[in-house]
Parts: sequence; C-alpha cells; structure tokens
Amino acid sequence: MKILIIGGGFAGCASARILSRHKQFKIDLVEQSKFLGAGVRTQFYGGHPYTFGPRHFLTHNKDVFNYLNKIVPMRSCADHQFITYVEKDNQFYNYPMHMDDIKKMPDKKKIYSELKKKNISKIKNSKNMEDYWINSVGKTLYNKTIKNYNKKMWLVNDNKIIDTFNWSPKGATIKSGPRAAWDKAISAYPKKENGYNDFFDKLNKKKIKIYTNSKIKVSNIRKKTFFINGKMKKYDIVITSISPDFFFNYKHGQLKFIGRDFHKIVLPVKEAFPKNVYFLYYANKERFTRLVEYKKFTKHKSKTTLIGMEIPSKNGKHYPLPFKKEIKRAQKYLKSFPEWYFSIGRAGTYRYEVDIDDCIEQALEIEKIVLNKKYETALPLKKWWKYG
Ligand SMILES: Cc1cc2nc3c(=O)[nH]c(=O)nc-3n(C[C@H](O)[C@H](O)[C@H](O)COP(=O)(O)OP(=O)(O)OC[C@H]3O[C@@H](n4cnc5c(N)ncnc54)[C@H](O)[C@@H]3O)c2cc1C
Repeated sequence: MKILIIGGGFAGCASARILSRHKQFKIDLVEQSKFLGAGVRTQFYGGHPYTFGPRHFLTHNKDVFNYLNKIVPMRSCADHQFITYVEKDNQFYNYPMHMDDIKKMPDKKKIYSELKKKNISKIKNSKNMEDYWINSVGKTLYNKTIKNYNKKMWLVNDNKIIDTFNWSPKGATIKSGPRAAWDKAISAYPKKENGYNDFFDKLNKKKIKIYTNSKIKVSNIRKKTFFINGKMKKYDIVITSISPDFFFNYKHGQLKFIGRDFHKIVLPVKEAFPKNVYFLYYANKERFTRLVEYKKFTKHKSKTTLIGMEIPSKNGKHYPLPFKKEIKRAQKYLKSFPEWYFSIGRAGTYRYEVDIDDCIEQALEIEKIVLNKKYETALPLKKWWKYG
C-alpha cells in the first residue's frame, strides 16, 4: 500500500514514523522547506538551543507520552510556572490566573463583587468573546487581563468579532483550589540539547522516502494522483497536515490564519526569569504575547541566557482563526475530501487547540483505522473535526 504524507511537521513525521512500523506500507513524505520538524525543530543561536516558540510537551495521555519518551527521552518539567504581566497593577500573576491572585489586586473588591454576579445561563448565551469573558469574570478583570491580549493575539480591533469562545484564551481562566486538570498533566521537554530533532531525523529511511525542499501539486484528487517535483505518482492513502483549501484550488476562498514573527535576544545574565518560571505572558498593549527563557526547558549551561519573543503577524499559517465563518469554510473543505484522506495537525484540522501531543494521538488513531481497514465515513477523525 502506498501512502503519501504531505507536510513534514510534527503531525506528518508522527504519521510517517508510526505507519512505517508496518511492512505493508510504502511511504512518501513531502515537505516544502529544507528541513523536517517545522517550528518544533531545535536550532541554535549563540550556542543556545531554541525552537520557534516554547514547544513544551503537555499531555494527559500516558500512551502518547510513553510513545514519545521512547524515541526522544523526556525530562519532567512538572515544576513549571507561567506568569502573566498586568500593566495596570504593575504586577505578575499566575497563568492561568488563580483566585489567590485576585487577593493581591488593588481593585479586588470590585472584582469580587463582579464575580458574585456570575450567571451561568448568561455565560452560555454569550454572543462573542467579549460578552463571554465579561459574563464569566466581570468587566474589571476582563479589561485589564483579557481584552488587549486577545486583540493582539488575533489581530482584531474588537473582541466582539471573535464569535467562538468555548476554549480558554491565554491569561484568562481563573482557577480555584488545587489546579487539578492543569497540574496533573504530564509536563516535559526533551533531555537532549537537540530537542525533538531525533523524532524527525531518525525516520526509517528504508520505508520512508523523504522529499524535502519539494513541491507538490494535485493531479486528480479522487484518483489520489499527485505531482511531486513535476513527476506524477499514485497513492492508496493520503495523510495531509497542510491547510485543506490547497487541495480544492481554494474554491470556497482561502482559509485565514495568524502567523508569528519571532525574535531571539541573548542577555548577559545567567538566568533572567524567576526560578521555575519558564515563560511569561503579556496581557497589555505591547505587541508581543509571550517571552520564553529557553534554558528553563533545555537546561543549557551558559553565562548568558536566550529569550524568545513572539509577535502575532500575518507571516505563516500558525493559528487557525476562531471565527465561525472560517471554521465553516474549513469544514466545507474537510467534508469534500474523498475516502482514505486524513487531514490532521493544526492547519490540517483547522483547530487552534491542536498541540504536539494531539499530533501523536491523531497519528496513532490513523494507524488503527488503516490497519483495521474500517474506513466508514468521510470524517474519520471525528473527534478533531467537531466544533462545540
Ligand atoms: C509559536 C508556537 C508555539 C507553540 N508551542 C507549543 C507548545 O509549547 N506545546 C505544544 O504542545 N504545542 C505548541 N505549539 C503547537 C504545536 O507545535 C503544533 O500544533 C504542531 O507542531 C503542529 O504540527 P503540524 O505538523 O500540524 O504543523 P506544522 O508544524 O505547521 O507543519 C506543517 C508542515 O507542512 C509544510 N507545508 C506547508 N505547506 C506545504 C506544501 N504545500 N507542500 C509541502 N509541505 C508543506 C510546512 O513547511 C511544515 O513543515 C506551538 C505552536 C506555535 C506556532
């Protein structure tokens, strides 16, 4: 059986790895850039290892962790803390925010009184992101911790434009008591300085033909024929992790994404962030959303420290937009795929919530479906394509 995998990021490489465990499959993996791994690939700056953004491994799924840990031995980061800077108070608070943080706020009385007015049915009937968070946490907390973060994250002038909000925007949720779901997740990062790179570089080359720096073109979607670097090839199964509009000549319009500009800064100090603080969110009008101190993850030894700064931009397809209109557009494309196509990963499912662990979970799910030959519906990975 011939399998085509399009996109050599985490999702594509996980699928290639997992399916190459079976002798009946011959796999072609096509990647447009010069290397595999996309933003999860570790690179070096001033001797410091870094990735494009944190790429911290967090999962509740032990099988997924065990799978990765065998290939890329992981170190626990269970001590990790994230904090968020709130300019109005000139203070750092926990991220996700905790009820204990409110105690430290100068306007706590107002916040408590707004929190008391919380009304579940109002929250459920919220029409947009702004409405949702004001109904959930009150106007005071919304204005100083959520409003500006979301506007810069999604490059919008008004959070009322964001009409899906059943997920947690960064810096927003308020936890109380022991932060069970959050604290119970397995939190880890690769032990080796080269990070996750062995996951991409040590693929079984006898079973997987890797085409990097390569161009792919659809010849006939139903027949599963494609041009790779101008040469036509036919497949039995296609796994794609790229934006699905590509396959249909953008006939319902191009899917919109937010990208990221990324800056690296070396500081002349051994460590810049407080102990156990791996990254910082910024909830205000500064253009960046997050700073990462890579040493915290990599344990790299140096007299200097490397900080990564992320700025939302139009460069790249990193974040699918949480707009109903765009999600509907994505679903139109996803529903149009013929049988034995799997559209996975973050861009492939058009789901912002898809992280590294989900890419592995999806690849393991495809393995089961393919081995059982139980393909029944045009939407095989239903869990990932359902929007609440
Ligand atoms: C800044 C940032 C920080 C993140 N931090 C974390 C984190 O801390 N923890 C976590 O779990 N997750 C994190 N994530 C999310 C997680 O890393 C991604 O969800 C995951 O890596 C997505 O993998 P993917 O294979 O779906 O997509 P990608 O990594 O985008 O890979 C897709 C690949 O397809 C290639 N491609 C695109 N078009 C074509 C084409 N036409 N032909 C051939 N190839 C093509 C691209 O070059 C790319 O290599 C982060 C994401 C970002 C953007």
